[in-house]
Amino acid sequence: MAFKRVNITFIGGYNDGEIIENVPVNQLRAELSFRTQDDIYFASHPSGDMSIMKGKLNSLWHSYSVSVYQKSESALAYTGSVEYVFVEDRDVERCTALTQKNTQCMNAAIHGNPLCTTHNHVNKTKEVTHV
Ligand SMILES: [Zn+2]
Repeated sequence: MAFKRVNITFIGGYNDGEIIENVPVNQLRAELSFRTQDDIYFASHPSGDMSIMKGKLNSLWHSYSVSVYQKSESALAYTGSVEYVFVEDRDVERCTALTQKNTQCMNAAIHGNPLCTTHNHVNKTKEVTHV
């Protein structure tokens, strides 16, 4: 029996015990991440100072941390629910690329990469055309 919509349960970490109901199965990703520490983030100012901010990211944001969860489908066939198991807390850095307006890109960089998915893709395309 196949479920089209399932409940997600989070196991461990900051979101332990949280449940999200009625999620379409085809929208389940292998990995989910959430901002931690009550929406705190670091901002870097033009002066070089760093400050701790809270809430929605502003144009000075520098980094924040997320809790990463990975999908475990072991319970799906029996209960119609999917468990996401806590893997780690991870720092998310800001993309270091500059936009056409010469401001720093607002996107988050890919884990282990200084660039976001958009700029990483642009770079790859350039490399290919220059070869
Ligand atoms: Zn970018």
